[in-house]
Amino acid sequence: MNMPELDRFDEWAPEEFPKGYLCNAGTSVEYITGGWRSMRPVWNAEACTNCMMCWVVCPDSSIMVADEAMTGIDYDHCKGCGVCVHECRFNALEFIREDEAEVA
Ligand code: SF4
Ligand code: SF4
Repeated sequence: MNMPELDRFDEWAPEEFPKGYLCNAGTSVEYITGGWRSMRPVWNAEACTNCMMCWVVCPDSSIMVADEAMTGIDYDHCKGCGVCVHECRFNALEFIREDEAEVA
């Protein structure tokens, strides 16, 4: 389909509007969103009480858990929103600039 001129979109006929696109279900894990991050949460395992509040509030399912205990942060998908840092009542999460992080 040839796209009509964008500056005349108010004159497009209904059939000229581009169709939306839906991704296949279950593909979000393959989409690495960690590169969007400008800030990163850094976990202090010593201070962590495994209360799981960060796991509850993380909008990206990036708090990693095994056997009912936190095991780390999925930096491939964490977007650095900071909600987990804000909600941690035990100061077990620090929020630092991404360009100051020690990348392993
Ligand atoms: S909210 Fe804080 S104390 Fe609770 S599991 Fe997360 S990092 Fe640990
Ligand atoms: S910064 Fe946001 S996306 Fe990253 S782990 Fe915390 S709550 Fe999840």
